[in-house]
Amino acid sequence: MTFDSVRLEPPERAVEGRRSWWLREALAADPGTACPPLAEEVRADVAVVGGGYTGMWTAYRLKEADPSADVVLLEADICGGGPSGRNGGFMYGLWEDLPSLTGLFGPERALRLCQTADECVKDAVQIFEDAGIDIWLRRGGHLTVSTSPMFDAVLDEFLTTYGNNAAVPSDVFVRLSPAEVAERCRSPRFRAGAFNAGGLTVQPARLARGLRKLLLDRGVRVHEGTPVTAIEPGNLVRLRTPNGAVTAAQVVLGLNAWSQGIAQFRRAIIPRASHIILTEPAPDRLREIGWTGGEGLGDFRATLHYLRTTPDGRIAFGAGTGTSASHVGRRLEEDPSWRRRLEADLCAWFPEFRGVGVETMWGGPIDVSAHHVPFFGSTWGGNVHFGMGFTGGGVGPTVLAGKILAALALGRSDDYTRSALVGYRPRNFPPEPFLSLGTRLVLAAIVRTDDAWDRGKRANPALEFVSHLPRKLGYHLGH
Ligand SMILES: Cc1cc2nc3c(=O)[nH]c(=O)nc-3n(C[C@H](O)[C@H](O)[C@H](O)COP(=O)(O)OP(=O)(O)OC[C@H]3O[C@@H](n4cnc5c(N)ncnc54)[C@H](O)[C@@H]3O)c2cc1C
Repeated sequence: MTFDSVRLEPPERAVEGRRSWWLREALAADPGTACPPLAEEVRADVAVVGGGYTGMWTAYRLKEADPSADVVLLEADICGGGPSGRNGGFMYGLWEDLPSLTGLFGPERALRLCQTADECVKDAVQIFEDAGIDIWLRRGGHLTVSTSPMFDAVLDEFLTTYGNNAAVPSDVFVRLSPAEVAERCRSPRFRAGAFNAGGLTVQPARLARGLRKLLLDRGVRVHEGTPVTAIEPGNLVRLRTPNGAVTAAQVVLGLNAWSQGIAQFRRAIIPRASHIILTEPAPDRLREIGWTGGEGLGDFRATLHYLRTTPDGRIAFGAGTGTSASHVGRRLEEDPSWRRRLEADLCAWFPEFRGVGVETMWGGPIDVSAHHVPFFGSTWGGNVHFGMGFTGGGVGPTVLAGKILAALALGRSDDYTRSALVGYRPRNFPPEPFLSLGTRLVLAAIVRTDDAWDRGKRANPALEFVSHLPRKLGYHLGH
């Protein structure tokens, strides 16, 4: 069987001023060895496209399995230039997706996936500790708070789901009373909460750049500034780039939301924006609100607020915003209206931070899949492997992704290639033009319903109906 050449829509290389604060900090601490663009025609055993966590963990596992394997990694920008160097740095496995996973694959397979994802996160932390690479790891746990009586009901339902499942470890989500929440962080908006003691935070770009260093140390040939413009499938797959090409027996695509530019995946994921503002250092104000334990904080909005601190006393305050696009582009990276919105939310949560400046803002695309869980597979003759659909929660699960994709590229049959996430294809989103229009309408309704619930009120019934419509149709569009 022969396949036509497949066109890709690579991202632009970001200019210095548009990089996240995390990435600028990581590059200042260690710019790393130069990885010049590909400028010739080369061969490799495995070619990986995408220098985010998915691509880099895959290359790492390939070398771990076979140090003699010739692995080439091609990244359009620089490694960590995408969301892997821009995210909130909340690192967790798949427990939050247990209900979706159970619905899709049954309780046993769902539980096994959550346990495996936990093991992968532990393994990743150990790899960085052994290598002596500082990724600002904090074992402060993750605290999800209710911010209104409306969200109290969501918290109760959330805790019941986990409390009623004897197989879930008892420290995964524990109820904290309002007083116990306040002992960890004081805010006039906080009520009761759910605490996951195992939740970690990291400096995301240090994780990405650290992975890049581990790959170079192990002999992976990394080419940055090298967009792959087309895939020519075959027994040997050829990847075209502006000034060279790679021919490889196996190819792995770790393209995140940019996968949506490939016709085959166009309706499998929706690119949606997440944005973060970062305050100036204010360690004294953090002490005033008692937030010194390094907890990652979040709420129960479908357009989640997520926030964490930095060692020099800043708050990184993020939200899954209501912005979506039919193609990944600038619109998902810069959105001044959300800057104003996030600044107002920050002051409402922490009046003590009024007067503390916001130093910078950045954003990026998340790859929303229909059921909020990632999926993996092989296509075009079976030697091009892909993984996507992390839906804004890939820092931990991409460690598992690396194991799955490396095992697929090595042609293994093991627990990873037999994982429930391999070969599973989420329900497609509707075709255009309904998709763009529908997503925009639904996300606007979700934001307004979240806002009303935050004020302790129900939204207009028509808005609530539209915001709950995706769930009724079997889609999970939350963060
Ligand atoms: C603002 C924000 C906050 C987030 N917060 C969290 C969080 O706190 N916790 C969490 O778990 N997750 C979070 N996420 C999601 C998380 O960052 C992602 O799930 C994760 O980084 C996905 O890794 P990846 O390697 O699949 O994708 P990416 O990091 O996007 O890597 C894909 C790479 O492929 C490259 N590329 C694309 N097309 C081509 C091409 N044709 N040729 C060559 N290269 C190409 C891109 O340049 C990019 O570097 C957040 C995301 C955003 C945007």
